[in-house]
Amino acid sequence: MIAAAAAAYLSRQSSTLIRGIIGFLLVWHLASVGILILKEAGALPAGLAPYLPTRASVLLSAIFAIVVYGLSFVGTIRQIAKLADPFFETRDIGELRLPFGVTFRVQERYIAHALLFVLLAINIAQVLATVLLNQWNNRFYTALQEKAEATFWIELRYFTVVAFLWVILAVYELYLTQYTQMRWRRWMTGRLTGHWLDQGAHYRMRLAGGQADNPDQRIAEDVRMFTSNTLDLVIRFFSAILSLYAFVLILWGLSASFKYQVWGINLETIPGYLVWAALFVAVFGTICAHFIGRSLIGINFLRQRYEADFRYSLVRVRENDEQIALLKGEEAERQGLAARFTKVVANWFDYMKYTKRLTWFTTFVNQASVIFPFVLLAPAYFSGAVPLGSLTQTAGAFGRVEGALLIFTNLYSTLADYKSVIDRLTGFERSADDVKVPPASAIAFEKNGETLDLADLTVTLPDGTPLVGAAALSVGKGERVLVTGPSGSGKSTLFRAIAGIWPHGAGKVSAPTGGDVMLLPQRPYFPVATLRDAVTYPAERGAYSDAEIVKALAAVNLPALTTRLDEDAAWHQMLSGGEQQRLAMARALLSKPDWLFLDEATAAIDEVGEANLYTTIREWLPGATIVSIGHRSTLANFHDRRIHLTKGEDGLHAAADAPLMALAKG
Ligand code: ADP
Ligand code: MG
Repeated sequence: MIAAAAAAYLSRQSSTLIRGIIGFLLVWHLASVGILILKEAGALPAGLAPYLPTRASVLLSAIFAIVVYGLSFVGTIRQIAKLADPFFETRDIGELRLPFGVTFRVQERYIAHALLFVLLAINIAQVLATVLLNQWNNRFYTALQEKAEATFWIELRYFTVVAFLWVILAVYELYLTQYTQMRWRRWMTGRLTGHWLDQGAHYRMRLAGGQADNPDQRIAEDVRMFTSNTLDLVIRFFSAILSLYAFVLILWGLSASFKYQVWGINLETIPGYLVWAALFVAVFGTICAHFIGRSLIGINFLRQRYEADFRYSLVRVRENDEQIALLKGEEAERQGLAARFTKVVANWFDYMKYTKRLTWFTTFVNQASVIFPFVLLAPAYFSGAVPLGSLTQTAGAFGRVEGALLIFTNLYSTLADYKSVIDRLTGFERSADDVKVPPASAIAFEKNGETLDLADLTVTLPDGTPLVGAAALSVGKGERVLVTGPSGSGKSTLFRAIAGIWPHGAGKVSAPTGGDVMLLPQRPYFPVATLRDAVTYPAERGAYSDAEIVKALAAVNLPALTTRLDEDAAWHQMLSGGEQQRLAMARALLSKPDWLFLDEATAAIDEVGEANLYTTIREWLPGATIVSIGHRSTLANFHDRRIHLTKGEDGLHAAADAPLMALAKG
């Protein structure tokens, strides 16, 4: 029956994580059915009977599968599944190292499913062990009460065996959970980093502004918390439901043996009244916890944001230490940092306030539930109706049922934290996806033809304010074009549009097919790495020989650096502005692009040096098209044409051809 239902469900398109769990339940179900059939046919030794699955186990797996299926319709669960699924679906190849040097290479998703299966199986075994210990409890205390010494020693040995198994399970549960968490995190971090860097999403997300603050923290912190919490919570809820079922059965049976009256009501007439009592406590507890603690979700969300903002400000100070020192900006920085930290503190006080309320409530409920079963059961015990063993076993079972039912109450603050992590990751994925969809009106960017053509192009700011317009401009192969215009007129933004990273605007940019394009900005970027890697970035290591690199460094007049290729440093902080521009130029000389765009890329270099660099470019890249932005009149000597940006009445800067000589004269 359940097999059919689950199979039908499995074939339908839905969450892989949930299908994985249902698949596990199906295996459990079929195994129980198989063993049950063998048992009833008498094919198994009778001595094993108490340890074999019963009809209850068969029913439990079926109910369980239906519950999990039902849960998959809850909004938050869907959100979790959407974040978790890619890991359980990936076809990436993973490596699994086992002891004795055995190494498997299989798809990562098989490893993921296998680990999940093993962890769930360990949990079943653990619940089984607690059931055995609960039954042992009754026998042990009864033996104590009856002073049956032989039984006492037998039971003590029994306990030792079960406890030993328990220890093994506990160790491996922890070990495998941690292992799975890191595997999952490693994979998910890789995926999110890729997602973020893909198609310039990282840049466009900043342009678009909006919901995804602090991507660094989302990738580093939130992924860590998501993977560890998801695994932890799935397992906790699984074992809670499992022990709930097991102990409800026990408690139901035990309820019948406690016969007494309260307020004139004969409790015997309510079947399983102890179960109902536990259920009442738990439902009451959960509802209260939700009302007391629900503000924590929003507070946690903000907490992560404020912490990240504060950390980012510290990093900014570190990165810009020189400017701050020169401007004597330390006091301003201190105040700025203090202001950011004030938010962290205020948020923490809010967090404390609600956590305190919640803790009042949860610890109270937890303490009360220790005595609650004894209060309920005491009259029956003192009337002599039941032995001590039954009393302790029942109190234990009651505690287990209540504990499982109170899971929401006790985990409320973890869940609130978890929910905010889910929201942050979902928001991050959404905005990384969103920016990859071009806005309704976007600049059409294509690569075709031999020339660079701009047609009816309007470049706007992200908010739609028009910036630059180019009705019809074209730059042919091998031309040397100078772009001029007042600062702030949108020259750099026009370059961004030409490079295809700026979507805001309308019209068309058709860039040349094939042909390498390189754009040097005014402030070049260097990774913190060896000089060799900094100058050849983003080419692969080994793409250029040391001799080539040395030659390029000499050509841009940086001979002092030629002996420091292996030095690892923060080059963007150490070198002077002009030196950095020369180094960037060396990068261009090495990569030999067919199209070179220079955005004030020599503005920090003296005029003689600039002239030398343009001569060098001409020698090293004879056929290349050069488009430079610059303000100096001397630049006219190195270009054949000029495009000038003039401000129109509508605020739009029109880009159009202008005489080159006018610049040289002016
Ligand atoms: P320039 O001609 O000096 O190179 P830019 O193209 O860098 O000018 O900038 C043109 C204008 O666009 C400036 O006023 C600048 O403030 C604005 N701007 C540039 N980038 C953005 C952005 N991401 N969001 C809002 N405004 C921007
Ligand atoms: Mg500029």
